[in-house]
This record gives sequence, structure tokens and C-alpha cells, in this order.
Amino acid sequence: MTDAKVAIVTGGARGIGLAATEIFLEQGWRVAAVDRDTEELHRACDPIANVLPVEADISDPQAVDGVIRQVVRQWGRVDALVNNAGVALFSRAGQTNFEQWREVMATNLDGVFLCTQAAIPELAKTRGAIVNIASISGLRASTLRVAYGTSKAAVIHLTKQFAAELGEQGIRVNCVAPGPVKTKLAMAVHAPEIISAYYDAIPLNRYGEAREIAEAIVFLCSDKASFISGQTLAVDGGFDATGVGLP
Ligand code: NAD
Repeated sequence: MTDAKVAIVTGGARGIGLAATEIFLEQGWRVAAVDRDTEELHRACDPIANVLPVEADISDPQAVDGVIRQVVRQWGRVDALVNNAGVALFSRAGQTNFEQWREVMATNLDGVFLCTQAAIPELAKTRGAIVNIASISGLRASTLRVAYGTSKAAVIHLTKQFAAELGEQGIRVNCVAPGPVKTKLAMAVHAPEIISAYYDAIPLNRYGEAREIAEAIVFLCSDKASFISGQTLAVDGGFDATGVGLP
């Protein structure tokens, strides 16, 4: 088992990150689940074999360096990094204050940059893969998403930047843009009229399941995706293919 691959999944305590952790494990990987919600992290991960719970805030550069050190000390390698931790804020542009804007950018954008930068030396040794989690809100603009949508659009571009730079080290970088999934994050910001607008705007007429997003994440980390880099895959029930708007 010592040569099993190792994935780092940020935001691994619940939702899409926990679903990705479960699929990695089913496929024989080991997983370092990184989260700042220490209670939920230990509740979810302590009972699972081959999962290392790592307490950290990914917007803190020192904490992020510590994550990589801890994983390498434990398992000696990093084969994949899933930049999944995120926060959501639905607020109109005129009502979003700078502190809120910075809070969204700190996790959703700075965190992706910091974790990627810190993991590069280890990923170069394994010719590993990075998957960033953006959102359909980063592909299409709508009201209420000035900070969240902009942070996710930036993640889509950051994916291309890192793909362009890291290819020479054999590192692939891709992005998944999920449609709505009924996780804690989404349910905190999706008011009833937003939920019903999503049902109308999504050709498959439903929310996704965390596992449906996670399958795409693990595929992009796997050798099956060995010539895919710099891409964003919308896993959204067809939302991005249509022009139907949201409130
Ligand atoms: P979630 O709230 O269930 O899980 C997110 C996890 O990230 C939580 O455990 C949280 O504690 C952790 N986290 C947040 N900020 C952190 C930080 N600074 N440091 C460490 N951990 C941190 O949410 P989810 O829906 O599973 O979201 C996962 C990703 O998917 C996010 O990037 C989100 O923006 C994206 N996404 C979600 C949806 C959706 O509808 N649920 C849609 C599109 C994109």
C-alpha cells in the first residue's frame, strides 16, 4: 500500500470535497483532507482509513506550507491537489463591502494560488495533477454574484495560467465548474426563488449530487486524463449550453 497515490483535497470535511475523498479511496488512493472546520473535519474523516485530516485555513500562506510538509512527512508523496475549499456570498454589487469581497477572494482565489504554489515541488516529482473547483457562476454572469462569480472566473483563468507554466514539469492543471448541488454552502445562499430559477435554467431540471461533481474531479486527476490540461469542464446538467438566465 505504500506506493498508493496521494491526493490533497481542500475543503474535504463535507460536500463535494468529502465526495471526492470517498471516490479517491474507492480507487485506491490515500487522501489528505484539509479543512478549517476542525469539528466537521474530524467527525467526517477520523473514522475513515487512509485519510489524513489536516486542519488549516488555505488562505494563510504559512498554514498552507505546513499542510504540504505534514502530508509529505506522513506519506512521502503528492500525486494530486484538488483546490476545492470555497465560500459563497450572494450579494448585489452595490451592497457588497470590501471586507466581504476580500473574504471571498481570500479563500476562493488566494487559497487556490497558495496551495498550488506550495504543492508544485512535490507534484513535479510525481508528474501529478491539479483540479481547481470553480463554478458555473464563473462562466456566466448574473446578479448577486459580483464577488463569488468573479473569484470563480479568476480560478478558471488561473487554471490556464498554471497549465501553461507547469506543463514542462509534467503537471496537468484542469478545472471543474459545478452547477448547483445541495450542500451547506449552496443552501446558505440559495433562496427559494433562486432554487426554482436553477430548476428552470438547467436542461436536466434538477440540482446535481456531490458525487456527480466528484466523479469528474477524480477522472481529471487520473491517468485516464493524461493528455487533458488547461480545461474547464462544466458539470452542470446542461446549464452552460443554454442562455437561460438566473435572478
Ligand atoms: P461546503 O460548504 O459543503 O464545503 C466547503 C468546505 O470548504 C467546508 O468544509 C469549509 O469548512 C471548507 N473551507 C472553506 N473555506 C476554507 C478555508 N479558507 N480553508 C480551509 N477550508 C475551508 O461547500 P461545497 O458546495 O462542497 O463547495 C465545494 C466547492 O464547490 C467550493 O469551491 C464551491 O464554491 C464549489 N461549488 C459549489 C456549488 C454548489 O452548488 N454546492 C456550485 C458550484 C461550485
